Amino acid sequence: MIDSIRVVGAGGRVGSTVSARLAERGVRLDGDDPEVVLLCVPDRAIAEVAAGIEPGPWIAHVSGATPLAALARHERRFGMHPLQSFSKARGPEQLDGAWAAITAETEEARAAGFELAELLGLRPFRLEDARRATYHAGAAVASNYLVTLRHAAGSLLEAAEAPPEALDPLMRGVIANGFELTGPIARGDWETVARHLQVIRETRPDLEELYLVLARATAAIAGRELPSDTVSRDRPAGAPVFRTIAELRAALAHRRAGSIGLVPTMGSLHAGHLSLLTAAREECDTVVMSLFVNPAQFTAEGDLASYPRDEGRDLALAEDAGVDLVFAPSEAEMYPSGFQTWVEVTELGAVLEGEFRPGHFRGVATVVLKLFAIVRPDRAYFGAKDAQQAEVIRRMIRDLALEIELRVLPTVRDADGLALSSRNVLLSPEERRRALALPRALATGDAGAARAVLAESNGLVVDYVEVADFDPPVLAGAVRVGDTRLIDNVPLEGDD
Ligand code: AMP
Repeated sequence: MIDSIRVVGAGGRVGSTVSARLAERGVRLDGDDPEVVLLCVPDRAIAEVAAGIEPGPWIAHVSGATPLAALARHERRFGMHPLQSFSKARGPEQLDGAWAAITAETEEARAAGFELAELLGLRPFRLEDARRATYHAGAAVASNYLVTLRHAAGSLLEAAEAPPEALDPLMRGVIANGFELTGPIARGDWETVARHLQVIRETRPDLEELYLVLARATAAIAGRELPSDTVSRDRPAGAPVFRTIAELRAALAHRRAGSIGLVPTMGSLHAGHLSLLTAAREECDTVVMSLFVNPAQFTAEGDLASYPRDEGRDLALAEDAGVDLVFAPSEAEMYPSGFQTWVEVTELGAVLEGEFRPGHFRGVATVVLKLFAIVRPDRAYFGAKDAQQAEVIRRMIRDLALEIELRVLPTVRDADGLALSSRNVLLSPEERRRALALPRALATGDAGAARAVLAESNGLVVDYVEVADFDPPVLAGAVRVGDTRLIDNVPLEGDD
């Protein structure tokens, strides 16, 4: 039974905790002739302090990394390393339940080490002096690198504008659950892992190596292997896509020194969209394409549901066109619950298209203003094909003093004259043939003549054909062919 111990370094983190526990247990700490001298000093000081102590009592250190040879002068020696991270803010209860590595060269020394550990409330186990570095490496990975992981994970949450401290209960939960592996690698969800890597490369490229090393090690635990196309820089195919406002903002943060161009689209890209992307690529340092089928601008039942969608193809085309980032948010991301702020361009938004599709331009102006707020572009690209839309955006930019240059590019047409539109794929060959009457009528450049052309063509329902005083003025028309509604216009001044 050890009843007298001298603690050297009792003011330090380990020394103060150990001393407090020994005092609790009634062990004398100030005796002249102690049974054990316990060195709670920094590792680099152990050899020197040990050399200054007269041999006789047991001498022990509490270092994980230092070999017993550091206690050279003494034969009665052992090491007792409590496997715990101590804080001066807490008391001896920090010892409870912690383990302690006992290193000793004789059975007697080991017995003394075990006795001291148990006296302190620790759970002793044997550690060979020669294996000390291996053991200590494990302890460092578990304790020190946990801090590193928390820092790395915290910086990703910060990049997502989420509170990093939200990670702490999660990390504790993993420990409380016995380190059970959950998440994408456990499920073999390589899509998600590829997306992680993609956003890390965009937002925190310095963390890519760490993520990859950990992902490989985690896959091994799950009995899997990371597929090479998951980690390849070419995956996933297509331009990098961002689903949330926070992710996109983080990715744009380091691009703001240069100019940013935004091309808003609803996808199903065709050569009309590509002309906007090409212009943006030529004129801006960073090109952002948004891909969002905006429910708020659909007014006819079934139109939203039947709107053509092919994201994979769009991302590949966007990549070919040199788009840097695609923003493809969910409906909930753009219209979170409780959403109630709308932009209405009152007069311009109520005529022509606005008359036949009430609320359409309110949906357009609102989503475009929100995209402007998210992307903060220097230039925004729109097609002359939707002349009234361009005019509504021009008005909104002026009225709200937005610092954005509006670029409107000419309508791209098929060889037969039909303006390209994502909705053209919904036309049967017969409907498409009939639809050609619209560009033919508008090409007359005269509202009366255009109406006459349309009146002669079978199976077209004309919503309107009007001259609109836009910039430039246009002859605009809208017709319905079967279930599909088509709009087109020609400029009455300037080039198309
Ligand atoms: P959407 O995906 O239909 O919302 O269109 C996205 C952008 O592409 C809008 O600014 C449209 O005006 C433009 N756009 C659509 N069709 C054409 C076209 N045939 N030529 C030029 N621009 C177009």
